[in-house]
Amino acid sequence: MKILRADAMGLCFGVRDALRIAESVENPGSVTIHGDLVHNERVLVQLQSRGFSMTNEAQRDAVPPTPAVLITAHGISDRERRRLESAGKTLIDTTCPLVRRVHRSALALEQEGFHVLVIGRRNHVEVRGVVEDLTACDVLETREDVRHYERKKLGIVCQTTVPPSLSQEIRAMVRALNPGAEIRFVDTICQPTRDRQEAVDRLVRRVEAMVVVGGKNSNNTRQLVERCRTAGVPVWHVQSAADVDRQWFAGVETVGLTAGTSTLDETIDEVYDALSRLPAGIPTNSRQWVHHFRRNAESLLEIPWDEPGRLSEVERRAVSRSVQVFQLGESGGGSRLLRAAQMHSTRVGDPQYVESARLFVLEEQRHAALLAQFLEREGIPRIGRQWSNGLFRKTRNLAGLELMLTILLAAEVVATIYYAALRRATGSAVLRVICTQILRDESWHLRFQCQRLSRLALGRRRGLQRLMLLIQTALIRATCLLVWWTHRRAFRAGGMGIRPFWRRARRECRRVGRLIDSAREEI
Ligand code: SF4
Repeated sequence: MKILRADAMGLCFGVRDALRIAESVENPGSVTIHGDLVHNERVLVQLQSRGFSMTNEAQRDAVPPTPAVLITAHGISDRERRRLESAGKTLIDTTCPLVRRVHRSALALEQEGFHVLVIGRRNHVEVRGVVEDLTACDVLETREDVRHYERKKLGIVCQTTVPPSLSQEIRAMVRALNPGAEIRFVDTICQPTRDRQEAVDRLVRRVEAMVVVGGKNSNNTRQLVERCRTAGVPVWHVQSAADVDRQWFAGVETVGLTAGTSTLDETIDEVYDALSRLPAGIPTNSRQWVHHFRRNAESLLEIPWDEPGRLSEVERRAVSRSVQVFQLGESGGGSRLLRAAQMHSTRVGDPQYVESARLFVLEEQRHAALLAQFLEREGIPRIGRQWSNGLFRKTRNLAGLELMLTILLAAEVVATIYYAALRRATGSAVLRVICTQILRDESWHLRFQCQRLSRLALGRRRGLQRLMLLIQTALIRATCLLVWWTHRRAFRAGGMGIRPFWRRARRECRRVGRLIDSAREEI
């Protein structure tokens, strides 16, 4: 599995500086850290083991017992600062300069007569610090929090880790509901957070799944997770290498890695190592394939059916017909294939092959059901027949298992290119996750068919094997061209004009050749 790292990730300068200051404290036993220095369990445990006392973020009202108090990178209000100083505490301040900027901006707006609106999470310690110094303000977490305000001067600041797109949406809503108001916006989103979010946006286009490393209560880490999810890429939020589960990556060839701003470099490296050590886990016999298909059925991606987004008119025109046809293509009962598999398994003494073929057929039917549900959600009717699909089925049924598998293999190669293009062609999170699920499964189906074709060729002379491979490749290429022509609209919408399509088809054919060759060593 290939692992691609985001080009901006992990510790930001604010957290790094805070950790450096904490490290330089000579007598940690005399210092209480006022809240979580960073939202990172591992760091907190390390600090505790050095002798620091800790105040839970929810219990910062009490006066810490130690003579010194360390203020975290998230900052505190001036009111809180005065309270601690008047209790005789020495303050060690690690507030990030970018958080200070939010405080300064909000106070300046209020002094100029603006009613301050803070975009961010109401209960986040950073936001609490900002609002505590204001006479009156509103915190806006979502567009639904926006209302009409009596004041005619509205000043807006953001929590440092708010996604720019959310800030934009909320500001648009403020403008819409307060048409006559003077609105001033101070952009206080921090650049390191922005860099990490933009890096994720670039990375998700190149991978099949994402791993995000960071504390479960780290706001910016959760934002990264959300961003991947919105892009329709399966994503796993882990706090350490111990959380990595190999089952997540069945069929995944390329995974992306990123991390929140409070994640240590060593934690990222450990997760990277854990990912790179995952065994390829390729099944090599029918019993293992049965196991694989069963496990796969238990770790399906969650389809975000509740997402409100629907296909745009342009998307509908481009993809609806082809989704109808692919839905039909995935929906066969597989009875002929299973009969041929039964005969073959009796002949070669491999009874488990029938069960593995049955589970394979079930996966294809699951794809058909997902696509059917998607069509229904979009109000697009299903179709009962289509000429290229009929031709495909008739040809497949002409001869024995080997021809059937070759034609199935051709269909899977096409599906690999088609669903990748379809995923690019649509903004629908539902359709994108369906495509990702099918692509994951198809990548294993390719191996499944290649292994069996390889087994069927065992005992043939080398020259004959090469000839068969040439015939198989020619058939796959012909199928690819036919499918591109039939679904050219959808392929083009996904950036697959005939030239890039053909290049990709040739690459996939070479891959099939390699898989069949390497399957000889696997079996
Ligand atoms: S995420 Fe941004 S604001 Fe927060 S500590 Fe890091 S640099 Fe500072």
